[in-house]
Amino acid sequence: MKLRQRFYLLEVLSGLGLTARHFFENMGRHVAHSLGRKGGARGAVTIQYPEERRPYSPRLRTLHRLVRREDGSPRCVACMMCETVCPAHCIYIVAAEHPNPEIEKVAERFDIDLGKCVFCGYCVEACPEDAIRMDTGILEFSSFSRGGMVYTKEALLALEPAGPDGKPGSPVPIPANRTVDA
Ligand code: SF4
Ligand code: SF4
Repeated sequence: MKLRQRFYLLEVLSGLGLTARHFFENMGRHVAHSLGRKGGARGAVTIQYPEERRPYSPRLRTLHRLVRREDGSPRCVACMMCETVCPAHCIYIVAAEHPNPEIEKVAERFDIDLGKCVFCGYCVEACPEDAIRMDTGILEFSSFSRGGMVYTKEALLALEPAGPDGKPGSPVPIPANRTVDA
């Protein structure tokens, strides 16, 4: 450590000077822009998250959802393709007979452990039925426990796609072991 750095106060003043320089630079740019000056660098913009969100790419992979048929039943035919391709081994499916003889199987149980998921999107790519999508726009999901990160078939079927502005169409799911007030 240099001798100058050993004097803590000097380093604090140097940091304050740097912050003040950025502040006045940005303020100057914002004032110039509001006075109609075109070109040149724009001032830094702070997004007031979570009230404001920057637009996300439509290709962004967000929380999964299971897609329904027109009659409301799940599209998933429990072919196990997604479970097989998942590199994190975080999909768990139990297949059952479908009541409709034209559809071979249905997922009796379909869990995704989002605590293990790496959001690669392979499950969506592998699905032959377009039964699973990652288009909910939901990014902020959490839990106080590992078990709370396991999303069941019912939870995944209840989710809606994000709107055209990328905003989630469903509320952020609250795990069963976490209250809304927590
Ligand atoms: S996004 Fe990738 S890691 Fe996550 S469930 Fe799908 S295949 Fe598995
Ligand atoms: S979600 Fe798609 S790939 Fe996965 S089991 Fe269902 S039909 Fe097969």
